[in-house]
Amino acid sequence: MKKRIAIIGAGISGLTLAYNLKDFADVVIFEKARGVGGRMSTRYADPFYFDHGAQCFTARTEPFRLFLKPFIEDGTIVEWRGEVINFEIAKKATKRLWLEPHLVASPKMNSLCKKMAYGLKINFSTEVTPLLTKGSDGWHLFSKEGIFLGVFDCVISTAPPAQTAILFGKHISNTSTLHNSKMQGCYSLMVGLNKTWDKEWIAAKVRNNPIKWISINSTKPGRDENVTAIVAHSRNAWAELHIDTDIEQVQKLLLTEFESVSGIDCSKADYISTHRWRYAIVDQTQKSGPFLDAAQGLASTGDWCVTSRIEEVWINAVDLANQIKT
Ligand SMILES: Cc1cc2nc3c(=O)[nH]c(=O)nc-3n(C[C@H](O)[C@H](O)[C@H](O)COP(=O)(O)OP(=O)(O)OC[C@H]3O[C@@H](n4cnc5c(N)ncnc54)[C@H](O)[C@@H]3O)c2cc1C
Repeated sequence: MKKRIAIIGAGISGLTLAYNLKDFADVVIFEKARGVGGRMSTRYADPFYFDHGAQCFTARTEPFRLFLKPFIEDGTIVEWRGEVINFEIAKKATKRLWLEPHLVASPKMNSLCKKMAYGLKINFSTEVTPLLTKGSDGWHLFSKEGIFLGVFDCVISTAPPAQTAILFGKHISNTSTLHNSKMQGCYSLMVGLNKTWDKEWIAAKVRNNPIKWISINSTKPGRDENVTAIVAHSRNAWAELHIDTDIEQVQKLLLTEFESVSGIDCSKADYISTHRWRYAIVDQTQKSGPFLDAAQGLASTGDWCVTSRIEEVWINAVDLANQIKT
């Protein structure tokens, strides 16, 4: 009989694991959201699309380039080109060089994950609860609503480390790398304007400000150019200071900063919203590698064990799948 593997999460880690393990085991993904992508997802607010998590990524290793090749060939992965600038209050904007290609999924950031999900078994809107029991037949998994999800020889979590530590509970040591990994939050301010973007720049790095990055999302390939969709990310340290602040209050603060640093008037914006990422990126690069307790059949990977770069997250998921197969 094939091994039964449950994967928690349908972001790039979970999908990479499932793809690499699907011929070796019976694999099922459980995802609490309604779709794939995790932090590579896209918010739709008619007529605007906002990639409110990951903005773009680079490909520096041969294996990752090989993985991307078919997606580049079919137009799912494309280079995002244009002028990138540095902003700072009371200073003249300066040009910023992108020394390597910056890639995006098209027409939405979650398009890559959607393609990767093809043919995989995924149960959406299913939040897995902490693993309380392991019978002689394996791990018994339940959803938040108490629905029995099945029995598995191995459970792999791609949830953030603090959540994985809760899911695995007493079954892992409280000195494990999962307990020692810290993530930082981020706020994504989304602004939609019902008009074409009329400036040269497509993205900006912001210095000495609660906002660290601005993307003109609608300038990414495959997006509707008749509207302007803007995503501004807060600095992670700033988000940590305001992580439990009322979201409307956060939006007000970020909007003021955004308008003064960018010079864009939002008083007539057609859409404004803010998303709180409680676990956005890893606090410190650990490079500990994925967690695997083969004897118990528990494993975990994600950016917490490398860096938050999508390429490294992918490499670690492939690495964990290979470890499980051997
Ligand atoms: C604001 C922001 C900007 C970023 N910018 C970039 C960038 O420009 N370039 C870059 O390379 N990287 C960027 N990143 C980081 C990158 O997005 C992540 O490193 C990567 O997407 C992580 O993928 P993952 O699959 O490991 O985790 P996730 O994408 O977080 O996937 C985990 C999944 O698990 C699900 N889940 C959690 N708990 C449960 C449960 N109990 N039951 C069922 N499902 C569960 C979640 O819903 C989620 O879908 C950014 C991240 C954020 C938040």
